[in-house]
Amino acid sequence: MDRANILIVGGGMIGTGVAWALARRGVSDVVVVDLDLAGIYASSELNAGGARATWWPPVNIETCLATLEHFRAHADAFGFRPRGYLWLYADPALWRRALERRELQNRHGLGVEALEPGELPGRFPVLDRGLDELVGATFSPRDGLVNPNAVRAWYRAEAEALGVRFLNRHYAAGVVTERVAGAGGSLRRVAAVDVLEVAGQDPTDEAGVLRDVLVTHRVPGERVRGETRLRCDAVLNCLGAWSPIFSAKIGVPDVTEPVRRQICLVDVHAEDLAPGVRLEELGMVVDASDLYFHPEGPHVLAGYSLPRESPGYDFDYDGEPFFVDHVWPRLAGRCASFERCGHVRGWAGLYAVTPDRSGIAGAVAGFANLFEAHSFTGRGVMQSYGVACAMAELLTDGRFESADLAPLRRDRFADPARWVLEELHI
Ligand SMILES: Cc1cc2nc3c(=O)[nH]c(=O)nc-3n(C[C@H](O)[C@H](O)[C@H](O)COP(=O)(O)OP(=O)(O)OC[C@H]3O[C@@H](n4cnc5c(N)ncnc54)[C@H](O)[C@@H]3O)c2cc1C
Repeated sequence: MDRANILIVGGGMIGTGVAWALARRGVSDVVVVDLDLAGIYASSELNAGGARATWWPPVNIETCLATLEHFRAHADAFGFRPRGYLWLYADPALWRRALERRELQNRHGLGVEALEPGELPGRFPVLDRGLDELVGATFSPRDGLVNPNAVRAWYRAEAEALGVRFLNRHYAAGVVTERVAGAGGSLRRVAAVDVLEVAGQDPTDEAGVLRDVLVTHRVPGERVRGETRLRCDAVLNCLGAWSPIFSAKIGVPDVTEPVRRQICLVDVHAEDLAPGVRLEELGMVVDASDLYFHPEGPHVLAGYSLPRESPGYDFDYDGEPFFVDHVWPRLAGRCASFERCGHVRGWAGLYAVTPDRSGIAGAVAGFANLFEAHSFTGRGVMQSYGVACAMAELLTDGRFESADLAPLRRDRFADPARWVLEELHI
């Protein structure tokens, strides 16, 4: 039987980042299993590459700020371009709250500017339509854009250099748990192979211990080619939008929903640009209509979340109708330069959405050796370093040091007063 000191299930941005952070702290025998490390099912390979620390709850600001500093330190390797985030507001109540939160953001050194709509065309000549409906805008110069594939590849290369093993095409299909009694108690096996006790059913003094993870070897879409039992001292669920499936195997009722998000690349011709517009200097623009866009190589990348998207594991891209019905009207409604832009291609990926739009991180209640870090909605890339370092601290020393992730514990959902409500979510 193969074994791991710490087994990380899911090798996306978060799992790979934690693996690296653990290895950097000297932990040996860290193993990462993933169904497909090329990332066809990983949000980490399907996102928009935005990186900002301008969030509203402190824990989101602090973890993203730490990540941005990491990006800045490796700017060339990560393709990090600190060109800022420009956020447009049309709703007066939201704008008032944005101004309140700006004070908190600026206490963290983010230098967020508040702009009048009349200032926008002078600062950002691409914005020349529908400005009278806006009530204000913020510009955060320390935020920017990053190449997420390069970030994940860096975490992996560094982790492998420190001895972490990545097992590709390994699907975590089941787990074997035991219950361990309180002090002085003895181990006794109570469940095996996918048949698991519900954590916390016995509230006396027992805790579950996750002993083995069963992984099947398979290429996505093909038959199972074999099965391995991986013995592990601790397990970390880093499955992103897939985390509820794993949680269900250990009886943890999950609150995360996978929700499709679509992005497309847009062709803009140089001769269509309004005077003074230099697209390559733009960072991320988040429009009051919830459309976001930024320059991406020779194109513009634009994303929009359909408001009534049903939860599900849906990777189908709607194609040109997505551009025609949702992207083009919003782009052309704000910028004359996009009046004649065209659809190039697009794709869909999954957001892992929680009720308060913040991630879940920490120890899993009812288990002695099970941890989780997932469900970072549209923030997993820009939160990766901050979360990875803090989770590695928890796993090795039993407490957070660099950032306090305690507000992200799953048990907050039992009490809405403890939710980490993130309203600046797109
Ligand atoms: C369209 C879109 C735009 C986004 N834009 C941004 C952005 O601009 N900035 C930002 O920071 N974030 C953005 N995000 C969010 C970001 O991509 C995610 O938060 C982040 O990638 C999550 O990383 P993860 O490691 O938690 O999950 P994932 O990257 O999804 O990794 C999960 C891994 O688990 C594997 N897996 C699943 N089930 C199993 C199993 N049973 N056994 C083994 N392996 C399994 C999968 O193959 C996958 O590799 C966006 C997301 C989308 C979809």
